[in-house]
Amino acid sequence: MPTYGPEILGPPPRDSEQKFWDPDVQTMDPERLRELQDERVRELMGKIFDTPVPFFVRKLRDAGIGAAEDVKTVDDLRNVPLTVKQDLRDSEAEAPPYGDYRFTDLRAAVRIGTSTGTTGQPTISYWTRRDLWIEYEASARTWWRYGYRPGMIVTHAHPAYLYSGGPMLSGSYEYFGMLNVWVPPPETDELAEQALRFWMRVKPDIPFMGFSTGRFFEVAGKLGIDPKDAGLEFRGMPGFGMGKGMPLMTAGAECFAYLGGGCGQLPGAHLAQDWAVVQAVDPATGEEVPDGEWGDLVVTTLDRDNGLLRYDLEEACAILREPCPCGETSIRGLWGGRFKDLIASQGKRFQANEVEGALRTVGDVTEPTVEWQMVRPGTGNENAPLRVRVERGTSAADDDTEVAVRCTAAIRERLGIDAEVEVLARETIPRSGYKAARVVDE
Ligand SMILES: [Zn+2]
Repeated sequence: MPTYGPEILGPPPRDSEQKFWDPDVQTMDPERLRELQDERVRELMGKIFDTPVPFFVRKLRDAGIGAAEDVKTVDDLRNVPLTVKQDLRDSEAEAPPYGDYRFTDLRAAVRIGTSTGTTGQPTISYWTRRDLWIEYEASARTWWRYGYRPGMIVTHAHPAYLYSGGPMLSGSYEYFGMLNVWVPPPETDELAEQALRFWMRVKPDIPFMGFSTGRFFEVAGKLGIDPKDAGLEFRGMPGFGMGKGMPLMTAGAECFAYLGGGCGQLPGAHLAQDWAVVQAVDPATGEEVPDGEWGDLVVTTLDRDNGLLRYDLEEACAILREPCPCGETSIRGLWGGRFKDLIASQGKRFQANEVEGALRTVGDVTEPTVEWQMVRPGTGNENAPLRVRVERGTSAADDDTEVAVRCTAAIRERLGIDAEVEVLARETIPRSGYKAARVVDE
């Protein structure tokens, strides 16, 4: 291994025909993998008490765990209390600016960012070189699974600066050895056009833009640009659309951004178990729920400079342990959405993206993108029809009433609830360069 020189900015090269990025770990015997986790749990506990990390020491002592030796294995984690985002926020408020749950000083880190703050004051995250390396290696396993290879041109439009997702993705692509074309989020048509024109000059092999993909298609349509000329083609990601839930790919920037990735052979995502203990937990008991059932996503990160112990993301996950024919030996995870984002209406609970899923089945509103909003049901009108607004698509029927009837029927079929659908002209609903606000309070 080189110790100094340009080589240290990336991993050693490997044969592009090999099946896995890191075969030693990805095909490790599950028992050996478990021993590795046990070892790393012990290291983590040692660091908590030796450093010490006051926040976690307090939590553990309150639960009757007074020494590192009291938690020796993954099994023992069941006795460790859960930590939620609000605990981190409180810690940062009480011990400003970054709380007392950190393992290293801020100045040991090389990158800092904040969460998006969609639910309350954003928390601060920071990473040492080692923390970043773990994210990059974990992400590399997933890029390799998707068939990405060093030498490809990849593009994205993640937000930048203190929002840590953009720098993390860019860094991971560069580390992997791809050419990273980072365009600004398409907040305006002008910014989207700038990106489209650039892609016509430097065409990406991997055009996946996440949440903003639809915006680029929309603006391309307005400008008369064939999206293919800009390299834009939808490519499904392995593991999506296979049974219930989505693949569990991330535990958030503050915990483990690149927790797993799908292989496309069985539902869910293969999880980086060497760097995390991932559990689906019943928050009332702290115990894991049976395999395949929804529980709280609880992650303990391993082998990092900065870690989190039994971090409950307040999102739904399910764990699948049956062996996967792809040859990877890790457990797999499904993601079922954030509990905070659940909408209650007419006795049903659902995610906003399930409404979008229903609208996507109505051809009148899908071209070039589905643009819609719903009004969050307030207290007292949970039984009223759900108020939904949707823009006409380019190939919509002339009669808006007819379109509305189809949307209402699709929502009833998918979610079993009544909706009052208002059909609007194109470009009535505000656009966003990243995640559009689909649920509004009125
Ligand atoms: Zn697999």
